[in-house]
Amino acid sequence: MYIKWLEIYGFKSFCEKTRIEFQKGITAIVGPNGCGKSNITDAIRWALGEQSLKILRAAKQEDLIFAGTEKRRSQGFAEVSICFDNSSGILPIDYQEVVITRRLFRSGESEFFINKIPCRLKDVYEIFLDSGLGKDGYSIISQGRVDEIINAKPVERYRIFEEACGITKYKYRKEETERK
Ligand code: ATP
Ligand code: MG
Repeated sequence: MYIKWLEIYGFKSFCEKTRIEFQKGITAIVGPNGCGKSNITDAIRWALGEQSLKILRAAKQEDLIFAGTEKRRSQGFAEVSICFDNSSGILPIDYQEVVITRRLFRSGESEFFINKIPCRLKDVYEIFLDSGLGKDGYSIISQGRVDEIINAKPVERYRIFEEACGITKYKYRKEETERK
C-alpha cells in the first residue's frame, strides 16, 4: 500500500489546488524553511481524521484554512484528498484505490468522504485500524516523536506495539460492543 497522490486545496499555505503524485519507494520533499513541507504531512494527518489541533500545529480550527496574504484572498474552505493504492487489499474495502477526503468550512462544519461517498470520521478510523495509519498510528513520525517514544512510559509505548501487532482493532471492537 502506498499513497498514489495527494490533493490539497485551501489547507494551510496551499491556496490553490495542489496535486502531488507519489511513486512507490522513497519520496523526499525539500524546500526552504516555511515553504510548506510540514503542511503536507499535516494535510495527510488531517485527512486521516486527526482531531488534535496541537498535533496539526494550529491554535484553532480556522487556522487550517488558507488565511490569505497581501496578494491572495483567503479561502472559504479546506479540502484534502489522499489516494491509496489498495491493490494488496490491506485496507478492508473492496476497491483497488481508496480516496479519503476531508473538508472543513469556516463555519466549523466538517465532512469526510471515502471514494466520494459521504461518511463519518468513525468510518475513516475503522478503515485504517491496524494499518499503522490510524489514530494511534506510527506511520507519521514528526520531529521530536522519536525522543517521545524513547522517553515514553511503558504503558504509552505499549500502545504503539499494540497497533503494530494488530491488537488495536480487537480492543476497539470490544469497547464498541461494550458501549452498545
Ligand atoms: P521548516 O523547514 O522550517 O520545517 P516547512 O517547509 O515545514 O518549514 P511549514 O511549517 O509546512 O514549513 O509551513 C509554514 C508556513 O505555512 C508558514 O509560512 C505559515 O505562514 C504558513 N501557513 C500555515 N497556516 C496557514 C494558513 N492558515 N494560511 C496561510 N498560510 C499558512
Ligand atoms: Mg517543517
